[in-house]
Amino acid sequence: MKLLAGKTALIFGIANKRSIAWGIAQAFHRHGAQLGFSYAGPALERRVRPLAESLGVTFVEPCDVSSDEEIARVAEKAEQVFGGVDILVHSIGFANRDELQGPYYNTSREGFHLAMDISVYSFTALARAFQPLLRPGGALLTLTYYGGDKVAPNYNVMGVAKAALEASTRYLAYDFGPQNVRVNAISAGPIRTLAAAGVGGFKAMYKQFVDFAPLQQEITIDDVGNTAVYLCSDMAAKTTGEVVFVDCGYNILAVPAPREMLGR
Ligand code: NAD
Repeated sequence: MKLLAGKTALIFGIANKRSIAWGIAQAFHRHGAQLGFSYAGPALERRVRPLAESLGVTFVEPCDVSSDEEIARVAEKAEQVFGGVDILVHSIGFANRDELQGPYYNTSREGFHLAMDISVYSFTALARAFQPLLRPGGALLTLTYYGGDKVAPNYNVMGVAKAALEASTRYLAYDFGPQNVRVNAISAGPIRTLAAAGVGGFKAMYKQFVDFAPLQQEITIDDVGNTAVYLCSDMAAKTTGEVVFVDCGYNILAVPAPREMLGR
């Protein structure tokens, strides 16, 4: 059963084949969506184009989401090519690498603004630019992380940004309700991507994730892609403003402890 047949989806945030956005793109493709991709800028084109070609995607547009002009240009192009859009995926985050380690209080004013602009405001900016193009029954989706709820060492300003992104998701859900467009976020467990590599100690910190998490498995971009299909399909027609965890249940734990130690 193809859950996204007849729907057009624009996906922002593919950098390479490890990107969560790429897992979402492949899942959407399996479920029959017509796709368009947008990537950050020229440096990524040689990675993104072959991925797009492998799925037969011809709408592949650069867009630095810190620029309202670039966002407007992609929206205009999408209108010309597709007429309207059903689904928009925002899988974008950025903070200065040197602020993703050490104490959070060392975050600079400039670094704070940058992280907020690219990781938070861009979702609102995309929502505004695409609002006239979004068809009833449509969906907006963003990607967040548990570091927005609880302290994840070194995640720092990105954690604060994710808290604001989750709040934006709820406000946007309210705004888009009358248009019958839903707005949700997926809170993904740790996945080794380019963005994750920027967080100090990522590899060491999540080494024990599989031992602690209730489902005792790694999170993959396919896992996130499959949940994205559900949230952006009519199967989730009455779900909006939510943060849905795809984390093997890690967030339910008050005390993460290896089962081996407990003899379980
Ligand atoms: P990624 O590096 O593959 O994706 C991040 C994307 O953001 C890249 O495509 C990058 O080009 C894009 N980007 C950065 N600055 C941009 C700009 N100015 N304009 C346009 N695009 C820009 O890594 P990912 O892990 O797939 O990250 C995708 C989303 O998932 C992020 O919001 C991230 O915070 C979130 N997330 C990741 C994890 C994880 O463990 N990897 C967990 C939870 C949430």
